[in-house]
Amino acid sequence: MTESGNGTPIPTVDLNDGRPIPQIGLGTYAMTGDEGVTAIDAGIAGGYRLLDTAVNYQNEREVGRAIAESPVARKDLFVTSKIPGRHHGFDEAIASTEESLARLGLDHLDLHLIHWPNPSVGKYVDTWRGLIELRDRGLVTSIGVSNFTADMLTELIEATGVTPAVNQVELHPYFPQTALVDFHRSIGVQTESWSPLYRDGGLFAEDPITEAAAAHGVEPAQVVLRWHVEIGSIPIPKSANPARQRTNADIFGFSLTPAEVVAISGLERGRMKDRDPLTHEEM
Ligand code: NAP
Repeated sequence: MTESGNGTPIPTVDLNDGRPIPQIGLGTYAMTGDEGVTAIDAGIAGGYRLLDTAVNYQNEREVGRAIAESPVARKDLFVTSKIPGRHHGFDEAIASTEESLARLGLDHLDLHLIHWPNPSVGKYVDTWRGLIELRDRGLVTSIGVSNFTADMLTELIEATGVTPAVNQVELHPYFPQTALVDFHRSIGVQTESWSPLYRDGGLFAEDPITEAAAAHGVEPAQVVLRWHVEIGSIPIPKSANPARQRTNADIFGFSLTPAEVVAISGLERGRMKDRDPLTHEEM
């Protein structure tokens, strides 16, 4: 457990490789330059220990600077990055990771993911073999994927015998991904939620969320983030604002009732436009 800026403990859960991961993390997309470093510093000071970056966010240097400046010991942080589509392949995955570590100024990542499966490229199994090699070499502690379907996860496991520790997917009350989360649970994959707040895109005004917020005396964003915890996922909300960062992390002092969870999941209407991993590819 770590203390958030509000004194709220951030608990951990164990991944399928036995490593603990915090139950909420800081998304760092768009946190670049000096402002980005300041925002990430504030996040660490506010209690976040899980930092989520990616080659394609072009801010691994900023994350590394914040870690170097932070009074929090490296061993108490949990740093995640992601291999981009243009680096798919066994050798490419290894080179990509070595470059990420150099930019971050770190000797290992706590979690490294394949960012998108990019099925038309046809190399996600080779990339996965590269991640297994990186884990065996100690450059990456836990290995996982992002935006993988159940069929793609099954393919990786059948090809290599190694089950990803994490699948980070689009997940929020408008797109609860109930079947995929259940599948993850059945095979021991931890779900992580990207865009957990639906990018502040109207979710906070929905009745089941405002009603639960009033009932528990918390903010709508806290209800949404607590909903992720209740369904067994790890949200990685992005906020560059220190006050919102602290509010977002302060979700372990209350819980939602089963009826509230069902009502919030009932907001389902579908994924963000154009983010279907069978067709959306990112290089
Ligand atoms: P998000 O976390 O759902 O929403 C971020 C937006 O919500 C920002 O505009 C932020 O503004 C605002 N916000 C945050 N807390 C708030 C609060 N309490 N009240 C009101 N507004 C609030 O969206 P996201 O950044 O797309 O996703 C989070 C992270 O997931 C990313 O940063 C990235 O690390 C990861 N991600 C991964 C993938 C993938 O393919 N694996 C894809 C997308 C994202 P302020 O900064 O001004 O607070």
